[in-house]
Amino acid sequence: MNETAMNGTSDREAICPCAPVAAREESRPSWHEECGIFGIWSRTVPVTDACYLGLFALQHRGQESAGIAVTDGIHVDIEKGMGLMTEAFKPRLPGIRGHCAIGHVRYSTVGGSVFANVQPFLAAFSGGFISLAHNGSLTNAQKVRRRLESEGCVFQSTSDSEAILNLIAISSAPTVEDKILSSLEQIEGAYSLIIMTGEGLIGVRDPHAFRPLCLGRLEDGYVLASETCALDAVNATFVRDVLPGEMVVVDQNGVHSRFLQKKAKLSSCVFEYIYFARPDSVIDGTSVWQARYLMGRRLAREYPVSADVVVPVPDTGIAAAIGFSAESGVPWVEGLIKNRYVGRTFILPDQTKRRATVEMKLNPVRANLEGKRVVMIDDSIVRGTTSARLVALLRRAGATEVHMCVSSPPITHPCYYGIDTSIRKELIAAVSTEREIGLKIGTDGLHYLSLQGLLESVGDAKGERMCTSCFHGIYPTDVSECLVEAPEAEGGGEVPKGQVSPAPLSFKSEA
Ligand code: AMP
Repeated sequence: MNETAMNGTSDREAICPCAPVAAREESRPSWHEECGIFGIWSRTVPVTDACYLGLFALQHRGQESAGIAVTDGIHVDIEKGMGLMTEAFKPRLPGIRGHCAIGHVRYSTVGGSVFANVQPFLAAFSGGFISLAHNGSLTNAQKVRRRLESEGCVFQSTSDSEAILNLIAISSAPTVEDKILSSLEQIEGAYSLIIMTGEGLIGVRDPHAFRPLCLGRLEDGYVLASETCALDAVNATFVRDVLPGEMVVVDQNGVHSRFLQKKAKLSSCVFEYIYFARPDSVIDGTSVWQARYLMGRRLAREYPVSADVVVPVPDTGIAAAIGFSAESGVPWVEGLIKNRYVGRTFILPDQTKRRATVEMKLNPVRANLEGKRVVMIDDSIVRGTTSARLVALLRRAGATEVHMCVSSPPITHPCYYGIDTSIRKELIAAVSTEREIGLKIGTDGLHYLSLQGLLESVGDAKGERMCTSCFHGIYPTDVSECLVEAPEAEGGGEVPKGQVSPAPLSFKSEA
């Protein structure tokens, strides 16, 4: 195997993977992996270039690091680096001409910029080599990792995704496909995976299908991607979404599927529609843009406020603002302009820096605001930092009233499946009433979309297909491992076996 060293030359933070588990958990950047993944198998398409383009379309899913692994069936070449795609691959892209490539863009929570965690992971084992890219968060990762370590497995990263790789490598199942399936039976939580072996390309979605994954056709081959916008970027034709618990295998014989034995129950993440996915993507049959537009229409029906203009918080608030405007008849205007060269505010390590960046990133258009009663539309309020700054900004620019409509319900509980919605005590809606939040952020009126309104907007009126746990704390899987034994004083406590988190006040793996 001609493998480029996994420890490349990019910047690294010194977090030692061989530190004791407890120490590592404290310094651990995160179990959260909010990522974009892409894979291609083709004998006619230049797969490295296609993988680069596909990942580029998924850059919104991760700006911290990127990596691409390519194989011709015998050799593997891998390049990884920190930062945006343009920075991560500055020295070079993988050089070999292969027929299969996979890639990953990563977005972790605060402090997670550790080179060792950059994916795809690559390992040699008795059955050849395996390279893996993961989107999602595992909820039993610590238990699995401890067991693997006690059995002698070594880890190079602090990422839970590496546990999957180790499980596959030590599996005694007869074929690679069997090894993958038997490994995943031991894993709980959210995972959309793209795996590359000497034989082919494999895509898997966990039995709840928390994170998206779709299959496309390109010339003689196939493409797997987190979102359909990446299929569009390489001119692939959408075939279908990977099903809950399905493993799709692409090789020289075409495509076939196998399924995990665990019971499949679709609970795909509603936050993909609210905030995370690109509006030009379609996930599990629902257009993200259309869903956001309908959220806006619904908001206008739920909160029929008198106003002069509707102002979106760009970019994720735009479709909802257009919907609000269409339903209410109030014109929408660009009241805030985004500086596209400033990174995401959300992941900055402290509140002061976050506040400064909100203002660097968004600037008001005085001509559209002066003397106007404004309804500002944003997709969510997490800690409340952004909203408070924006309300103040709009007032300084001359708005006479500022109402805020949020196209999601109050976020009261953390997500354990890969969306960074903070630790519970930092969630403003976990510690304040709606009225108090309105006062804290300084609005003349605040309205959150109802849960039913949200579900209807994403085409799931009965609430049967979506995970909405961040709005109520009822989780579709057992999340007890994700919680620290929270001190009574903080109102924490054990999660009743299975599903409900009463007050997970501290989430130890969050940064
Ligand atoms: P906050 O300032 O903490 O209330 O965060 C709310 C802002 O962050 C909103 O403008 C959202 O668009 C954005 N946001 C919401 N969820 C996330 C997330 N998981 N990662 C990054 N940004 C987010």
